[in-house]
Amino acid sequence: MNLPVDFVTYTKPLLGEQWAGFVEALDGESPTSIRINKSKITSGKSLTQVPWCDSGFYLDKRPQFTFDPLFHAGGYYVQEASSMFIAQVLKQYASPSMRVLDLCAAPGGKSTLIADFLDEHSFLVSNEVIRSRANILSENITKWGNPNTVVTNNDPSRIGKLKGFFDIVLVDAPCSGEGMFRKDEGAVAEWSLENVKLCKERQQRILADIWPALKSDGVLIYSTCTYNLEENELNVRWIRDELNADILSVDVSEEWGISPSFLEDVTAYRFFPDKTNGEGFFCAVLRKKGDEENSVSKIKEKDNRSKINLETEYKNLILNSDRFTFYLRNDKWFAFPSCLYSQLQIIRSELNLVSEGICLGEFKGKDFVPDQSLALSNFLNKDAFVTLDLDWKTTISYLRKEALVFTDQPKGYILLTYQNIPLGFVKNIGNRANNLYPQEWRIRSAYVPDTVESII
Ligand code: SAM
Repeated sequence: MNLPVDFVTYTKPLLGEQWAGFVEALDGESPTSIRINKSKITSGKSLTQVPWCDSGFYLDKRPQFTFDPLFHAGGYYVQEASSMFIAQVLKQYASPSMRVLDLCAAPGGKSTLIADFLDEHSFLVSNEVIRSRANILSENITKWGNPNTVVTNNDPSRIGKLKGFFDIVLVDAPCSGEGMFRKDEGAVAEWSLENVKLCKERQQRILADIWPALKSDGVLIYSTCTYNLEENELNVRWIRDELNADILSVDVSEEWGISPSFLEDVTAYRFFPDKTNGEGFFCAVLRKKGDEENSVSKIKEKDNRSKINLETEYKNLILNSDRFTFYLRNDKWFAFPSCLYSQLQIIRSELNLVSEGICLGEFKGKDFVPDQSLALSNFLNKDAFVTLDLDWKTTISYLRKEALVFTDQPKGYILLTYQNIPLGFVKNIGNRANNLYPQEWRIRSAYVPDTVESII
């Protein structure tokens, strides 16, 4: 790999004897890894586990995920292995009934991971400042199917006004991307010392802006995919000293090959491609000191719950419906966990919501049109629908949003599944079935292979 001269001048002394092995690893292959959605599937294959994440697995090769229906169904998420280390942090620091903010969340790898750690009383706000990326985030969160989640599209300074609201804040900061050199040639081309400095300053702005939203004793997880000191240890030191926090440690096994911090007074976890099977990654965990008062509970909560109740039969669309609040918003019916509904109200009054809980669908005339979010929810009651399990070819046609014909099926809404995992709905009108798969999610590739090997 042709590394930028300034990168070599800066990083070589930092790595010392490790340098030669590191450079060699940068010329090697990136491993492919996925995290399985245990609420939807169990793997039938024996895959090598990512040591620091129970649901993370390496694949022998990089398959064409686009043509695997389980990828579209939220059965797994393709995620770089090192970044799954957040699972190890949460194993130690997650608690029941927590409020978590994933501040820089798109496309959603770490948010879907956090979602796996939420108990039914916990709440995840998954935020992305760039609108187009917030939509991709929302798609991935919807596919993952956890109802305790909302997606927001706000600047950190706006969220910072929710004083003392969150128990855990993850800042997976926009960074100079050195750790992605092997995967992304663009990251090499864009790298400069000047950019590292700009990134560091932006990271500090983001951290200072969001800091008030973390409650006292709350946990900040800070991560980047870079190697330099400026964006990593020096920023952690800055958080500790300027924002007032204690640095925490995470239990790791020596066998995992995770490297320690470069600075003695900073505890952190570093991933190098020559030592761990993954890309470059940095993570540190801090506990906020001080006595920030949670002032958010004082916000007057407006109860917008609709007085109209969904007909009993529509409540049957989801499992455990007695634990959900049903409400109408912009002509669509939603279900949100009742125990978190007041928190949703706070978020709605303060932030720009992109998606929330389970969107059940909407009435068009007398017809209740079920939403894609319902099909992919882990709380979907499959028994509420006529269900049709498709072969691979028909599934790909469905995901390409092509016209389908199911003349032997009853008229009305049909839930389509692949290997019994829900994918979405069609409305069967007899001579054809209207394909309700979201237009913007469809497979666009003109090429379709004749067959694919199953991944999990
Ligand atoms: N956490 C994500 C995941 O695991 O899939 C990856 C996040 S990526 C490293 C950093 C994100 O920060 C990007 O989505 C980027 O759009 C966002 N970002 C860029 N500038 C930002 C800013 N000033 N404040 C907050 N987020 C920002």
